[in-house]
Amino acid sequence: MKRILVTGGAGFIGSHLCTRLVNEGHDVICVDNFYTGSKKNVAHLISNYNFELVRHDVVFPYFAEVDEIYNLACPASPIQYQIDPIQTVKTSVMGAINMLGLANRVGAKILQASTSEIYGDPTIHPQPELYWGNVNPIGYRSCYDEGKRCAETLFMDYHRQNGVRIKIIRIFNTYGPRMLPNDGRVVSNFILQALQGEDITIYGNGSQTRSFQYVDDLIEGMIRVMGTDDNFIGPVNIGNPNEFTILELAKKVIEITGSKSSIVFKPLPHDDPKQRQPDISLAKEMLNWKPTVQLNEGLHKMINYFKEFVI
Ligand code: NAD
Ligand code: UDP
Repeated sequence: MKRILVTGGAGFIGSHLCTRLVNEGHDVICVDNFYTGSKKNVAHLISNYNFELVRHDVVFPYFAEVDEIYNLACPASPIQYQIDPIQTVKTSVMGAINMLGLANRVGAKILQASTSEIYGDPTIHPQPELYWGNVNPIGYRSCYDEGKRCAETLFMDYHRQNGVRIKIIRIFNTYGPRMLPNDGRVVSNFILQALQGEDITIYGNGSQTRSFQYVDDLIEGMIRVMGTDDNFIGPVNIGNPNEFTILELAKKVIEITGSKSSIVFKPLPHDDPKQRQPDISLAKEMLNWKPTVQLNEGLHKMINYFKEFVI
């Protein structure tokens, strides 16, 4: 049994991670300021004596004796992280400094939830970890992209300078139950719109691509990365390489829900990446990991969840 700190633990991915870790018998401290997370996401864990929920903003230092830290605190939806871009940068950069400082002090292993966004609008396809990316440093998405890039830099520097035991994963678009209805990301938007019979809003002409990963696959990947020996630090891509255009996704959601919704086209947001697909050779080789839930199955699960809990 380990004592494990999960920052951003009341968010979409964090709540699944906390659940898995508590179920494995670990003592879990979930730290969250509820910026995009919610107590509801972890309500099923509250009565478990191995679970503690702490309201705290990672921009400020936090102290606890822990063995492992998963650093997930940061809004992930473009709409959410652009509401307060300065706070988004602070969360990634100062949050990383505070958590790395804690890891250094208590000798904990620490995993950073980085992102495919560090590749920006990629000119290499699919994206391997060796690709340095194509990121606009002064655009509307920069608070997230550059914040996450700086966090990776800090992780590497704490490792090289202080010997902190780090792991960096680059997560590609992930979806699943407990995404908030107002989250603004494409899968939850389309499912809600389809179930409510509203227009499905495609930004741009829908030819941009994303590769969608079901949350259970990601959690398995995260646990495996944390379990690797100290020599393996990443960065390692964790995502599902099956790539779809946004128009294909909209059609799939309409088909599975049997919705009468129409598709409408809205302006494309600034710096919206045109394509995204992970090269997961490294994860396959080092973790013996690959995604197991494909889009149709994952969409069915998420649609059932939204029918029951949201609509
Ligand atoms: P989410 O918005 O649901 O969760 C983020 C959580 O962090 C929320 O609970 C939020 O309240 C909390 N948080 C935000 N700022 C905080 C702060 N200053 N202090 C404490 N808590 C704070 O998003 P998610 O999809 O669950 O993403 C979790 C992590 O995974 C993020 O770091 C995100 O960048 C990364 N990621 C997610 C995806 C994805 O597709 N879901 C892709 C790449 C990377
Ligand atoms: N998108 C869309 N309609 C929506 C929400 C998003 O067409 O209602 C598009 C968005 O422009 C982007 C893709 O879907 O091209 C994925 O968007 P999301 O916000 O989920 O994630 P990210 O852009 O960070 O990959």
